[in-house]
Amino acid sequence: MINIALDGPAGSGKSTVAKKVAKELDILYLDTGAMYRACALKCLLSGVDVKDTDGVKKIMDGIDVKVEYKDGSQVTLLDGKDVSFDIRKPEISMMASTVSAHRFVREKMAEIQRNIASSMDCILDGREIGSYVLPNANFKYYITADSKVRAERRYKELLERGEKVDFDKLHEEIIQRDYNDSHREFAPLKRVPDAKFIDTSDLTADEVVEIIVNDVRRGKTNV
Ligand code: C5P
Repeated sequence: MINIALDGPAGSGKSTVAKKVAKELDILYLDTGAMYRACALKCLLSGVDVKDTDGVKKIMDGIDVKVEYKDGSQVTLLDGKDVSFDIRKPEISMMASTVSAHRFVREKMAEIQRNIASSMDCILDGREIGSYVLPNANFKYYITADSKVRAERRYKELLERGEKVDFDKLHEEIIQRDYNDSHREFAPLKRVPDAKFIDTSDLTADEVVEIIVNDVRRGKTNV
């Protein structure tokens, strides 16, 4: 069984790299951020403040988050509806970061993720896959890049989708999300010692893909 844990902060290139690795190795790509985004969207649609622990708890009791695959791409379903587009809206990013700090939210999502990972070869991208969701994953990576480079990547991605955003605001938000994600009490963004560290500031996505694919083909990471 191949389980690849790919962790790192927002905009480090995780999803681009994970998609390409999955295609190259013909394994599944699970975007765990999409699941936290779906939780945030549910709060938004229900008028519940993502900081309100009791309110979020009620939402989580009845939530139905599923992932399916269509033509090799992940489709994220919230209560049976495809929300893959809506969860990418910029206002959802920060809400996802806040909602994901609740321990019960993480436990519920991690259970779904572990079930998927135990049944098929896959690459999961997230913040704490190597430290919490799949501590026994056979391949672990922590990728990052300078915060400005990461903001530029997100900016380009959003522009391509037709979303207009202010660059400085986006940069600030990335720094704030880094802080939230790495300082939360339960399962924070963390680089574990057995993960290979890759700074992607000066690397193309394909160069990062090559490192991972070569490791998997050789059967070891060489941290
Ligand atoms: O990766 P993405 O930017 O889509 O994630 C949105 C937010 O969801 C992150 O800022 C983070 O707070 C949260 N998240 C998480 N754990 C994961 C994936 C995402 O806490 N495994």
